[in-house]
Amino acid sequence: MDTERSLIEHRLEKQFELQLREERSKALRQMASEKTEILKRANEDRQQLMLENTRLRKEISEANTNRNDTSKSSKIVSQLEDQIRELQTQLELYEQRNIDLQESLSKSQSELESQREELESQREEQKNNNTQLELYQNDLENVKIQFAAEKDILLKNWAEEVQILNQVIHIKINDDESDHKRNQRQTRENEAMQHIQNLESRLDESESQLERSKQEFAQLEKILFEKEVDIDKKQLLLESSDLTFHQLSQSISKINNNDDDLENLLFQSSKQTNIERKRFEKSQKENLILRERLTDETRRRKYLHNLVEDSKGSIRVVIRMRPLMNNEKPTDESSGKIEFKDENTVVVTNQQTGTKPFEYFRVLDSYAAQSEAFDEVKPMIQSALDGYNVCILAYGQTGSGKTFTIYGSESEDDLGVLPRASRFLFEQLNKNNFVVYPDGANHEMMVQSSSSSLQNHASNTFSVKCSMVELYLDSLHDLLDVVVVGHHSGSSSKKKLELRQEQGGGCFVQGASEHLASSAQELLDLLHRGNSNRQVHKTEMNDRSSRSHTIFTISLIVASPYAPAPNQNTNQNLYVTKSKLLFVDLAGSERISKSHSVGDRMKEAAHINTSLSALGDVISALSLNQFYSTNHSLKKKSNQQNHIPYRNSKLTQILQSSLGGNAKTVMFANISPSRTSFSETMSTLSFGSRVKRIQN
Ligand code: ADP
Ligand code: MG
Repeated sequence: MDTERSLIEHRLEKQFELQLREERSKALRQMASEKTEILKRANEDRQQLMLENTRLRKEISEANTNRNDTSKSSKIVSQLEDQIRELQTQLELYEQRNIDLQESLSKSQSELESQREELESQREEQKNNNTQLELYQNDLENVKIQFAAEKDILLKNWAEEVQILNQVIHIKINDDESDHKRNQRQTRENEAMQHIQNLESRLDESESQLERSKQEFAQLEKILFEKEVDIDKKQLLLESSDLTFHQLSQSISKINNNDDDLENLLFQSSKQTNIERKRFEKSQKENLILRERLTDETRRRKYLHNLVEDSKGSIRVVIRMRPLMNNEKPTDESSGKIEFKDENTVVVTNQQTGTKPFEYFRVLDSYAAQSEAFDEVKPMIQSALDGYNVCILAYGQTGSGKTFTIYGSESEDDLGVLPRASRFLFEQLNKNNFVVYPDGANHEMMVQSSSSSLQNHASNTFSVKCSMVELYLDSLHDLLDVVVVGHHSGSSSKKKLELRQEQGGGCFVQGASEHLASSAQELLDLLHRGNSNRQVHKTEMNDRSSRSHTIFTISLIVASPYAPAPNQNTNQNLYVTKSKLLFVDLAGSERISKSHSVGDRMKEAAHINTSLSALGDVISALSLNQFYSTNHSLKKKSNQQNHIPYRNSKLTQILQSSLGGNAKTVMFANISPSRTSFSETMSTLSFGSRVKRIQN
């Protein structure tokens, strides 16, 4: 009975367990499909937003051109205003001239008037003179006639008396006149003679009077003639002043017309000014609205970009195999064969272990171009511009292609991810009309300052600074600030730097020189300078550069009125993002035994081993945390996150602020295709697979 009961119980338990398992797997499937759906939607949203973003950018640039137009029109307005001012001064001048002319006109008019009056009075006077002259002439004529008549009468009387006397004398002579009679006749003759003489003197007198009158008349005629000439002259003067008067009134009316023109122009230009001002105000408003919309869209774009990036994992491993060299043999199945199955999988076939797949975020075979390697880094540069810290690492044995991947070589196609990232960075900044902030130190100050005037001054600006340090054994050296020490052989040594604790928990390299770069080229020039300072120190396998870690840091500050930062200073005027981009060319990961190292080389190898395994531990702890936080179904019972062992090496301490947290990491795990490198390749592949891949 008991056994039957326990059998039933057992069966029921099993059935129950089966049911539970089925439900659990159903729930898991459902969750997975829900997750895919959400991601798909987020992707769609993102694409739509990107489209919207591009459209908005276009609108903004249109608005900017509009604004340019407006500024052009405001320029026109100011030009018009200048013109108006000029016209006004001209008008004032004209008015002054007008007043002057009016004055001189009225003066000449009154002069003319007085001249006319004078002329009139002279005319009157002349008229009087003429009548007087006529009277004189008449008088003279009368006197002449009177005299002539008197003369005639006297001559006639005298002739008659002479005749009578002659007759008397004749008779007396004839009749023997007496003496007495002769005396009488003599007396009478004398009296007559006297009378004739009197008459003759009176005639003379009247003739001389006539002569005087004649002279007087001639004088009067002369005066008259002079007066007439004078009148003619005055008439001429009058006519000429009439002409001037006419001209003056003409020019006055002209000036008045001019006044009208000026006023018209003034009116037109003030109308135009008003129109332009209104247009300007309208486009300013539009600009403001667009800017607000762009800010919102930028915020959403950043949020979605980050969501998408984080969903792919913030630590990514990219396996990259370099091409086979002439003197190398490819891997084969007897020693172990390495093949690329798809873009995520490397398959290793080995006689002992059989076929084993390794999965990564991405795998790049030996045909992959430098641009393909950069494609894996590009979204991270965008994240850096959005304010996230980014770390790009190259891991692998010496000669596997780390330096090639990070720096590459001079030719355009072979440029590594760092030069490409520099170009992309500046392209993005230039595309969005950002200008270089001229002084990095002040830019930093501006970020901390809350003064709005400073912030307005600094809006839409960025500064890029870089430093390059080398971590060799346990000491840090500045590759961009070489100090000459010692007198022997002119050798130069690099300045020694110290690691200091930062407030936020991370570490920073104290004393490393920072250099401003205002273009990609300037950044690359600094990179070349640093690279040439890397010490050449040959070991059996490679130079010292492969025995040290090289860290190139780009510090980025972007201040923008419409690009909110996720976790940096913000206020309503300005958003400031501060981020760091680290490019790390790690030391070769090969094992000590291979380099036949003794002494110093042994010490080097031990340091490298310590730092690389500390890096592996940090990355694997971070990746585990991430794995748990994205796969809730597998979440550990305790909500505790794994401890991240940053403090185990100097390397991980330096990288702390760029590994984990909000930071994004791409690790290139470089491998060689050579048969002799198989075991190193295997060790790199398993190092890379410490990062759990997040399935999409
Ligand atoms: P590491 O820095 O890991 O020691 P290097 O980057 O110096 O290795 O690479 C070793 C050699 O291989 C160099 O001559 C380099 O030009 C070449 N090389 C590495 N990767 C590639 C690649 N993907 N394509 C072509 N040549 C490569
Ligand atoms: Mg190298």
